[in-house]
Amino acid sequence: MSERSEKGLLVIISGPAGSGKGTVVGKILSSYPQEFCLSVSATTRAPRVGEEHGVHYYFIDKESFEERIEEGRMLEYASYCGNYYGTPAEYVEKKLDEGKNVILEIEVQGALKIKEKLPETVLVMITPPDYATLEARLRGRGTNTEEDILNRLQRAKEELELIGHYDYAVINDDGKAEQAAEQICRICESEKRRVRRQPDFVKRFFS
Ligand code: 5GP
Repeated sequence: MSERSEKGLLVIISGPAGSGKGTVVGKILSSYPQEFCLSVSATTRAPRVGEEHGVHYYFIDKESFEERIEEGRMLEYASYCGNYYGTPAEYVEKKLDEGKNVILEIEVQGALKIKEKLPETVLVMITPPDYATLEARLRGRGTNTEEDILNRLQRAKEELELIGHYDYAVINDDGKAEQAAEQICRICESEKRRVRRQPDFVKRFFS
């Protein structure tokens, strides 16, 4: 990718459970580690097998989560299927100042809160090609209970109804996560070239 403008881009990637957004984000980070970084969220949900504290999430209890909200340390937070999820503010602000594009992999309510607070944020929705694929992926995971699966399917419908608030929609077809990741990187590259994001362009040109 080409050179950076001064501040990084805040990129929110949402997608219903089963959209494969985690895989897509992983590909963006491994292909462009200099340009992108990922904010690790805090959550009150229990870790799944293989998930590590500080890597996949900061797994904290409800009391600590609420304490962080009160102290203003969360850029946003939302409740999802009975648990809190939130973005620690400090890391995001630091990385944006360093010129990195910061990815938040978060659900729709949190995304819309951030867009309201920080309108320059780019919102990307990743979806599977269709609903049947979404359900098959979710059941194929084998790590969720039936109740959780039904909750997540319901939530997926609600989230997709809000796609009109998003800037971009990207389809993650089976076995094509690489393609979806490239599309998102191109979106970010174009966003960074927007004139309004380069207020010093003319000054630099003549200096
Ligand atoms: P999961 O339990 O599958 O890891 O995540 C459930 C949902 O919460 C996903 O849609 C995920 O993107 C979202 N999520 C993860 N971290 C955050 C966060 O910090 N804030 C918000 N609002 N949603 C999050």
